[in-house]
Amino acid sequence: MKLAILARTDKRVQMELGETDPMIANALRRTLIADVPKMAIEDVEFHLGPIRSEDGKEYESIAPLFDEILAHRLGLVPLPTDLDLFVPKATCKTCGGEGCTNCTIIYSINKRGPGMVSSGDLEPIGDPKLRPPDAKIPLVQLGDGQAMLVYATAVLGTGRDHAKWQPTTAIAYKYRPTVDIDNKKMDPKKFPVEVCPVDILHHEDGKVVVRDEEKCTLCNACVEYAKKQGWDGAFKVRGDPARILLGFETDGSIPAVRALEEALGILERRFADLAGQMEELT
Ligand SMILES: [Zn+2]
Repeated sequence: MKLAILARTDKRVQMELGETDPMIANALRRTLIADVPKMAIEDVEFHLGPIRSEDGKEYESIAPLFDEILAHRLGLVPLPTDLDLFVPKATCKTCGGEGCTNCTIIYSINKRGPGMVSSGDLEPIGDPKLRPPDAKIPLVQLGDGQAMLVYATAVLGTGRDHAKWQPTTAIAYKYRPTVDIDNKKMDPKKFPVEVCPVDILHHEDGKVVVRDEEKCTLCNACVEYAKKQGWDGAFKVRGDPARILLGFETDGSIPAVRALEEALGILERRFADLAGQMEELT
């Protein structure tokens, strides 16, 4: 399989897979969703009883949402994940599963109402680089006299166990489209290029031409219009299953390219495992 990155930002990758087939693209898609790990909040400890501020004012540790709902919302906040550092807590060699800086991040929230508690109020205990990358995710609105004192522990996990550990979103792939135009089989000047819903057809020197071919959605609107005019064969639109365009985003917890490298590594190890087991059988 060949892989070419067509466009990349920190949070998004668009690539073309060559000499491949849909099974491989789908295996990569599923690995990106279910097997690339990230950190997410798993345990939340709520302080109960009154909370006193420095000036002596007393607040009630109560919020308009149930603690379970708040814990769930905290779990869904994307957290920065260094895949070279963090390991799953259960198999952490440093602490033997007790919890240490290699397998957990501990956050605190100490907020007094009235006001909105948001992801930016999650204060990491230790390295300030571990603050959530998106500080504006609303969690709960506190009323006057209400306060929240919470300790939350994040651990490494995968989307296979819960969607909160899924670092990638909006993963989609399609066959690489090709649009062949035979201008001799139609009257190109009379062809309305706006028939194409993604605007990739254009008039140029009395001909119809295609630009940004990869944006074609294989909708066949041009083929059908030509057919109605009796211009059979003027357009040929095909998707090539051996060339696949695949794109995805991450939630900010890991750079998109790193998630891709991780997914490819997981697939490689899995196929090597399988090959090893096959050899044992024969
Ligand atoms: Zn540990």
